[in-house]
Amino acid sequence: MTYRKLNILTVTVFILMIVFDWQAHVPFSFYVALVLIYLIINFWGTIFISSNFFILTKCKAAKVTDSIAITFDDGPVPEHTDQVLSILKEHNVKATFFCIGKNVKEHPALTLQIHQDGHLIGNHSYDHGSFFDLQSSKKMRGELRETNDAINKTIGLLPRFFRPPYGVTNPMLVKAIVRMNFVTVGWSIRSFDTTAKKKEKLLARITQRLRAGDIILLHDRCKITAEILPDLLNYIRSIGLRVEPLDKLLEEQAYV
Ligand SMILES: [Zn+2]
Repeated sequence: MTYRKLNILTVTVFILMIVFDWQAHVPFSFYVALVLIYLIINFWGTIFISSNFFILTKCKAAKVTDSIAITFDDGPVPEHTDQVLSILKEHNVKATFFCIGKNVKEHPALTLQIHQDGHLIGNHSYDHGSFFDLQSSKKMRGELRETNDAINKTIGLLPRFFRPPYGVTNPMLVKAIVRMNFVTVGWSIRSFDTTAKKKEKLLARITQRLRAGDIILLHDRCKITAEILPDLLNYIRSIGLRVEPLDKLLEEQAYV
């Protein structure tokens, strides 16, 4: 189901109900149920990025592979991002960082370090505010452009990969994404590292579900993420999987 198909279907059902109502009475509760179903499906599409309800989102490898990708959101943040970078270097692994624009502006040296270490950088909005998704399409586009400008100023490249804050999508955001020609990237494994308290639980939550072609969502602003990263990378290697940056896994160019 997509947003467009749902709109067509809802309007069709609504018209049919009015026609029937003319012949025989259609209870008012049927109209209420139609609106409720419409709203529930919209809500489901908004919060589940892999539903592809509003926009096609890349959540897994483009084809059968023995690789996976690791992504880090919300950085760069001093200390934690540094730690993540040194672990990745130790394990000779290339990852993808979805950076917040204002963090890039505040920490250009760290952003450059990510790039120079061979990792990819994507756009993750400028402010990552709680009300990001309630803004107009124009305002969202402004945030995405400001972030791309900050990244371009730092590494000399314009990102094509965009990950929506909180993984939430809606028609306004889609308009901004389409206008800026972004490739929207989701995930297939959400680690919930931002709320995790126990390292063993966090690690198990990822490893139990991990399969070839997956994209893991982590956050380099979390201390616990750096703490489990060596064990996670060792596990990935032990089951014969390789870690690749997103451009290879998705077969898409990372930069314009
Ligand atoms: Zn985020």
